[in-house]
Amino acid sequence: ILTTFAITTMNAQKKPYLDTKKPIEERIKLLLKEMTLEEKVGQMNQYNGFWEVTGPAPKNGDAEKKYAHLRKGWVGSMLTVRGVANVKAVQKIVVEETRLGIPLIIGFDVIHGYKTLSPIPLAEAASWDLEAIKKSAQVAADEASASGINWTFGPNVDITRDARWGRVMEGAGEDPYLGSKIAVARVQGFQGETKEDLAKVNTIAACAKHFAAYGFVEAGKEYNIVDMSISNLHNLVLPPFKAAKDAGVRTFMNSFNTLNGIPATGSTYLQRDILKGKWNFDGFVISDWASVKEMINHGFAKDAAEATTKAVNAGSDMDMESHFYVAELVNLVKSGKVKESVVDDAVKRILRVKFELGLFENPYKYCDEEREKKVIGSKENNEAVLDMAKKSIVLLKNEKQLLPLKKSGQKIALIGALANDKNSPLGSWRIASDDNTAVSVLEGMQKYKDNQLTFEKGTDLTVGETTFTAELVFNTNDTSGFEAAIQLAKKSDVVVMVLGEHGFQTGEGRSRTDLNLPGNQQELLEAVFKVNPNIVLVLNNGRPLALPWAYEHIPAIVEAWQLGTQTGNAVAEVLYGDYNPSGKLPISIPRNVGQCPIYYNSYNTGRPVNADKNVFWSHYIDVEKTPQYAFGHGLSYTTFEYKNLKINKKEFDKNEPVKISVEVTNTGSYDGKEVVQLYVHDVTASLIRPIKELKGFELVHLKKGETKTITFTLTDAELGFYDNQGNYLVEPGTFTIMVGGNSEEGLKSNFELK
Ligand code: BGC
Repeated sequence: ILTTFAITTMNAQKKPYLDTKKPIEERIKLLLKEMTLEEKVGQMNQYNGFWEVTGPAPKNGDAEKKYAHLRKGWVGSMLTVRGVANVKAVQKIVVEETRLGIPLIIGFDVIHGYKTLSPIPLAEAASWDLEAIKKSAQVAADEASASGINWTFGPNVDITRDARWGRVMEGAGEDPYLGSKIAVARVQGFQGETKEDLAKVNTIAACAKHFAAYGFVEAGKEYNIVDMSISNLHNLVLPPFKAAKDAGVRTFMNSFNTLNGIPATGSTYLQRDILKGKWNFDGFVISDWASVKEMINHGFAKDAAEATTKAVNAGSDMDMESHFYVAELVNLVKSGKVKESVVDDAVKRILRVKFELGLFENPYKYCDEEREKKVIGSKENNEAVLDMAKKSIVLLKNEKQLLPLKKSGQKIALIGALANDKNSPLGSWRIASDDNTAVSVLEGMQKYKDNQLTFEKGTDLTVGETTFTAELVFNTNDTSGFEAAIQLAKKSDVVVMVLGEHGFQTGEGRSRTDLNLPGNQQELLEAVFKVNPNIVLVLNNGRPLALPWAYEHIPAIVEAWQLGTQTGNAVAEVLYGDYNPSGKLPISIPRNVGQCPIYYNSYNTGRPVNADKNVFWSHYIDVEKTPQYAFGHGLSYTTFEYKNLKINKKEFDKNEPVKISVEVTNTGSYDGKEVVQLYVHDVTASLIRPIKELKGFELVHLKKGETKTITFTLTDAELGFYDNQGNYLVEPGTFTIMVGGNSEEGLKSNFELK
């Protein structure tokens, strides 16, 4: 019997690039030398998987073609292959049947968990809890890697300000500073913290997407154009990508949108000049799904050959499902349209990540059936996602002391179709998990037995099929369930209504022009309110909802997003006060859809002041200019007081750290957590600066009555900005700061930078 050591030594003699004693860069070069042009191009081709690859090749043309290409070594990666058995099957084909046996890298959209689902990423961002977010990504990596996957298409680090866009649920919200911190937490959660961690069996390569500016599609319309100044690109869009890069993210995905007239997939500026040039990124770039092909529809390339030329030359290293590189690239190199050195560069990048993952040492290292059984859905993983879910909940409003609910002696009516829905709370992007696996709010609340809890759905949210691919049809007409709900509400002390959007109503391709409650939920809410105004509204949604009537009339509102597998347990713990909510909004909630895009880090106009009797200021005449709930807003069952804001000096030299401190006291009657937020404003600059920008935050735990001093340090990294050439400037002048529990109000001070 040969030991692994003996096999490795033998292999290393036959194939020197398998010699683990050699540095990876040398191994890459040695392997590249062995490769034919066809084999190189093969590495740049990624195909979508087919569910059952273990059986005989299906007779459908596409799958047959993919099998044939796998056998020829024309495939470098596959995505969405589910489960160890299937991954093993495709890996075996390339390892045993191709000349060089270069293992596949297996990608998957592990966006908020694999099978055990965490809250949607936007919800997680509301926790402002970087450790919890990192842990959540670790759980996802643990399960995905146990299922044969070694690469996730996450994190999505798209900053977005427009709730109409469906993919708001996938990112970390509107702020580049918070978004950058979360990007790092997620990259580290997926990949581990050091380069060596990537080779561990429970980590996976991450992918910062979508590069770039996808979150700014015009009018929130999916796949639309983006026109944006270079300074805004650098100040708003790129920071989380740069942070992910600095944290060692191994791949980037480009995006479907154009940026200033050029499809991101064909953008040399983004991929070569910035990412691989200025930032010196040495991993690889994957196209988005068929985005190379879409360049023809954009009107940027006339055919497959031109689209391939433009994409490859611009720095898109791997083609996801356009099938263009595999068909065109060999000829393009032969005819001189694409230099072989460009192909070599792309292949080196792809091989580098495969080497780092340790796939050459053992292509089947992620194919462990035992581990798959043990890890997926484990108790520990469920506990971790429950913890994350509780931390993601934001208490928007709490009047009449409705919350927390009493644990006994209350008659509680639970109303709303989403209250006993076990599918919708799983949210969008959960392709590995089974349907109907969430704990519903009803199930979660039923665990608190000492109350009289009764349930009526009141209405159905949707009519007909509710699958990811179905066009959701919302119930607007059938009010036959209203009466039972009204009767129940009448005889109850408190009504908990779970309303919102279906989990499949946000995500890719789910843009909306209205941010209301779909179907006849609003009608139901108002009808119930007439008989019992003691309503706790629990919102389930993947994007901010503009619900002016509810925000005005309903006394208690809990933003519970779509919280994944443990939804009901998390919501129940918060409602009954076993968990004191501490979430803060990572995105502004508008008063109405006409305010979109709305964001806290806006600019002064020439007419900012509501001067006496002067109507000619920058505002709308029909609605207040502020959002309904500001970025950073979120209540607790306790209260916090801020005092003694101090800056260590009044004047600073360039590069000198600015030290800021503030005292925060828990003045209420519960222990609780507060996210202390620091905002900065550069008053006068060569390019106008936002009225405030988040530049620090800390999540502090305070027992009732306790006071803590929180300190922040500002350096050049926080005080400067990018100009329209992409240069970073730190300019002298006055800076004002604000420290508080949200972006709207806080203690203020200022300092001078010389
Ligand atoms: C999405 C990507 C995703 C890819 C693969 C595309 O439609 O835009 O975010 O990773 O599909 O599923």
